[in-house]
Amino acid sequence: MLIPETRFIIGNWKTNPDTLKESSLLAKKISGSSDNVSVVVCPPDIFIENVKNHIGNGIAIGAQGFSSEGSSALTGGISLSQLISLSVQYCIVGHSSQRAQGETNADVNLKIRECLAHNIIPIVCIGEKERDENSTYLKILESQITATFSDLSRAEFEHMIIAYEPLWAIGSDSKRSATPAEFETISLFIKKIVYDMTGQNPVGQITIVYGGSIDTIEEAVAYNDIGAHGLLIGRASLDVRMFNKIISVFS
Ligand code: PEP
Repeated sequence: MLIPETRFIIGNWKTNPDTLKESSLLAKKISGSSDNVSVVVCPPDIFIENVKNHIGNGIAIGAQGFSSEGSSALTGGISLSQLISLSVQYCIVGHSSQRAQGETNADVNLKIRECLAHNIIPIVCIGEKERDENSTYLKILESQITATFSDLSRAEFEHMIIAYEPLWAIGSDSKRSATPAEFETISLFIKKIVYDMTGQNPVGQITIVYGGSIDTIEEAVAYNDIGAHGLLIGRASLDVRMFNKIISVFS
């Protein structure tokens, strides 16, 4: 599936909400996609089928991850085949919470390939833990990007969404969001590395969304104003009024 030329508002529900009933209510209230924006909702696996039944037309369903072990003895995991059987169209890979549990860049690379092989669009999270005055974080980020996307072709980059998700800007403990200017700089940095890796000019053909906390509608407006390809939103996607406002900002 080639990435359409729209922008993306992606809601990552993480382990929310608590009940099936609440997942129906949330799903029902989400505004649809438009010509300019594709809305993707990533509920917990257990609610995917229910959310599909309640969500409006044109809203795509994504998963939050899977185990590369396939059908196995792994207890508490989910396989890609199981997600495929639920007609999931997108899947988050490399989220910092998975990386914190031991997922390596090589694991993420494999998962990207598995998704692509099954026409699932991977939403690939990358981002540094912290920033330092000497800009060492850029080196760290570069090696993460190089390893995560190792040996992928230029065409494969056109079938995925990259989410720049600096760890210092996500979660309720984050002190601030990355500014649109910081995001733009890192987007260029990513494109330059992809250019170096694939040897072809990637400008404008790689989809990079911002994946830090969005706490105010003004932040969403600022990201829309710089022409960001979209947002991967965590907590704010559970506040349907806020999520719908963000969708309308990008529509
Ligand atoms: C995330 O974890 O993908 C995220 C963006 O989280 P939050 O918006 O809750 O900070």
